Amino acid sequence: MAGRLVIVGAGQAAFALAAKLRMLKDERPITMLGTEPVLPYQRPPLSKKYLLGEMSFDRLLFRPEAWYGENGVEIRLSTPVEAIERKTRSVRLFDGSAIDYETLAIATGATPRRLPAAIGGDLEGVFTVRDKADADRLAIEMKPGHRLLIVGGGYIGLEAAAVARKLGLDVTVIEMADRILSRVAARETADAIRAIHQAEGVRILEKTGLTRLIGEDGRVKAAELSDGDVIDADMVIVGIGVTPNDQLAADAGLEVQNGIVVDAFGRTTDPAIFAMGDCAVQEWRGQKVRLESVQNAVDQAEAIAAILAGGADPYRPKPWFWSDQYDVKLQIAGFNLGYDQTVLRPGNREGSLSIWYFRGNEFIAVDAINDAKAYVTGKKLLEMGRPVDRAAVADPAVDLKSLIA
Ligand code: FAD
Repeated sequence: MAGRLVIVGAGQAAFALAAKLRMLKDERPITMLGTEPVLPYQRPPLSKKYLLGEMSFDRLLFRPEAWYGENGVEIRLSTPVEAIERKTRSVRLFDGSAIDYETLAIATGATPRRLPAAIGGDLEGVFTVRDKADADRLAIEMKPGHRLLIVGGGYIGLEAAAVARKLGLDVTVIEMADRILSRVAARETADAIRAIHQAEGVRILEKTGLTRLIGEDGRVKAAELSDGDVIDADMVIVGIGVTPNDQLAADAGLEVQNGIVVDAFGRTTDPAIFAMGDCAVQEWRGQKVRLESVQNAVDQAEAIAAILAGGADPYRPKPWFWSDQYDVKLQIAGFNLGYDQTVLRPGNREGSLSIWYFRGNEFIAVDAINDAKAYVTGKKLLEMGRPVDRAAVADPAVDLKSLIA
């Protein structure tokens, strides 16, 4: 039997690696070490149904506690790893103890960027959303009538805006770029999502940065915006992206470039150490990319499990992602990196549409808004690697099924 696998982190990718190894009947000892005090759970509902109070924490857990014992997975919560000692093949904990590994997998995720204290980032009432504790603190303050300022018009900020409106808060989103979702989606997708929020009463201010937060007795009370306006705010959610938790790896001398550099097999520059999920960066069509999604965390972890269990197949990301805002479901298949053309396809019911991304002649991704058929067809076409006729996609009279027939 192989020697001990130590997994640093106890989130989405960590759980997927342990579960897949056991599914593959790999019986090596596994120790999972996580900073948080709770068993591994799914994060997406933290800015959706869990924040809204419509989903209990139990339902977020991947497995109940018994599963870990029954499957020989030792899990140690509230146990952050302090350092990786590659020479002795061990990880050091903050209490000074060490755990030996034969194989190490790093799945430390990412940390939300915060606003600097110099502009009020450390005031009370300023939140980020990454873990259960963040969502619990935030939920207490989401009271009807409260004025919420969201800094950053990305998915997490917009999902939080939707929850806040449902709970009766007064919501303003500011986005420094010329439009929301500018880093991740095409203008047409942003236009559709903006319209939905505006119809729900969210104020969206684009090309508007934050100059500073203004506090009173240590608590946020207003925000000065880049156009000089000052708006009242009882609370602030900061959704300006994340940075990968790659410091442990960097300190251990592994290659790090905005994430822990891994090859197609999830291996770092030390062949005994793998990295996966939000903290890992990998080559994608000649570029280094870091994918922040459940699908990537799970698929990459499962690919590593297969390799540890004796397989030889590289991990080939097949990105998909989703976002829920109000009763709107946005589903994304593919990765739109480097797109140079988009085609908009109206859906066959009100409020449904899809945006198809092309790079040169190649179809690379689709955003489907309340349009499951477009999502499923787009995903299938990406898997088939087939050329896609733009005129057919743009014409709602053409049945999408004919594209994959
Ligand atoms: P994580 O799940 O973050 O797990 C990392 C764990 O490692 C954490 O528990 C962390 O505390 C721990 N850790 C860090 N450092 C150490 C250390 N030194 N020692 C021990 N433990 C450590 N993705 C989607 O696809 N769709 C969505 O709709 C979506 N919504 C999201 C909403 C929110 C609010 C958030 C926060 C994320 C969302 N995501 C979504 C992203 C998705 O949840 C992440 O991509 C996924 O969780 C990544 O898994 P991971 O295992 O890499 O990291």
